[in-house]
Amino acid sequence: MSIVLEARQVSKNFGGFHAVRNVNLRVQEGNIHALIGPNGAGKTTLFGLLTRFHSASSGSIFLKGEDITAKGPAEVALRGLCRSFQISSIFPGLTLRDNVRVALQRRYGSSHQFWLPSRVLSRFDDEAEQLLDLVGLTSLAQRLCSEVSYGRKRALEIATTLAMQPKVLLLDEPIAGMAAGDVPMIVELIRSVAKDRTVVMVEHNLSVVESLCDKVTVLVRGEVMAEGTYREIRDNPAVREAYIGA
Ligand code: ADP
Repeated sequence: MSIVLEARQVSKNFGGFHAVRNVNLRVQEGNIHALIGPNGAGKTTLFGLLTRFHSASSGSIFLKGEDITAKGPAEVALRGLCRSFQISSIFPGLTLRDNVRVALQRRYGSSHQFWLPSRVLSRFDDEAEQLLDLVGLTSLAQRLCSEVSYGRKRALEIATTLAMQPKVLLLDEPIAGMAAGDVPMIVELIRSVAKDRTVVMVEHNLSVVESLCDKVTVLVRGEVMAEGTYREIRDNPAVREAYIGA
């Protein structure tokens, strides 16, 4: 299987602090790949480096073999590498359907997304319906975003990211803060979206990692401590000591 996303010897320093140090990461096409590690390990910073929200202090990033180290987030998004938007980028006063429509417009490059009349927005109807269906939100499409649960908002956030048609989807803690009852819904959603694309996710919930992920990379103090299947990293004594707990 081919490598779709790769970090080679990537480092990020904030002042004199090494948040990410000489990280090598190879993500196989079609996999669900987890990044785990204690707080402050550098997972979010590495996400920022992969999606070009951070510039690397050294090292290179490759997407489908192309060196994207010097590219910006918009350029890599157009090449198929997208991270989920934070919930703050969802519009609480819009319906779920209109949130997805607005995200679709973004793909078509409109910089006037607030001003377009509804007849223009309606162009995106079919695609919006498909995305809402994919994330299980069809029955709530007419509801205002502010009225639905946090779990549904996270599902909507994934739908708005899928509007960019990513080949590689990066999810930053998709389960975090979610009511226990909503977790299976998001787990199934991730499994379903991963059928057609590669997923890289930061996740603290290890039972979710175990049930979803083909490969796990453990970051500790900015460095890769271990990599393998969940079982392999769970049985690694250094990982148990640094993160999982003996
Ligand atoms: P994680 O996501 O694993 O919790 P982060 O990537 O958020 O870790 O942070 C790694 C380290 O880098 C932390 O010690 C954090 O305080 C530091 N850090 C992150 N972003 C910045 C920044 N913009 N400026 C200075 N230090 C930062």
